[in-house]
Amino acid sequence: MPRPPVSLFYGDLPGTRLAAILRRLPPVSGDPVRVVKILGLSDRRGPVHGGAFLRERRIALDCTQAEFPRVFVHEMFHFVWVRAGNPVRRSFEALLLAEWRERARGELGWSAEWRKNDLSAADRERRTKLWREYCCESFCDTAAWLYSGKKGHAEFTLAERFRRRRRDWFRKIFSPRGLSL
Ligand SMILES: [Zn+2]
Repeated sequence: MPRPPVSLFYGDLPGTRLAAILRRLPPVSGDPVRVVKILGLSDRRGPVHGGAFLRERRIALDCTQAEFPRVFVHEMFHFVWVRAGNPVRRSFEALLLAEWRERARGELGWSAEWRKNDLSAADRERRTKLWREYCCESFCDTAAWLYSGKKGHAEFTLAERFRRRRRDWFRKIFSPRGLSL
């Protein structure tokens, strides 16, 4: 029997909430990823709501129950990004480059937006670390917007026509193949 892809150890959070999120996603496959709650989570820039530890196959969260779906889906898609392969990653990058040419402002999460605001033309042309990090965070924030079930949020600032394009891209890529963690 296949093992469940996500094992949840998250305080008093009912497993049914996770099941509800997983039902909105394309089918998930891969070895288990543990989800744990860590109080006072931070990275080099200060406090954060979530972190993905890819080698340890662990997602650490420190967020409210209301933010849980968005933060969980974002961190889960860090695993999807790593597994997606270069053609898929470059295809998403091309979508973001097209947005740049059309001067799309805003993003679908603060993690992508602050990086986007820091980017220069040289970062895009040379595909620097900041550009590649931006692509990854934008991918995860787009997934969180699309699959978390949240209709509106202060961090959803990208214009509707660009949201539609991203949603179509995710459906085209992941509906047929599902998600590998
Ligand atoms: Zn992230």
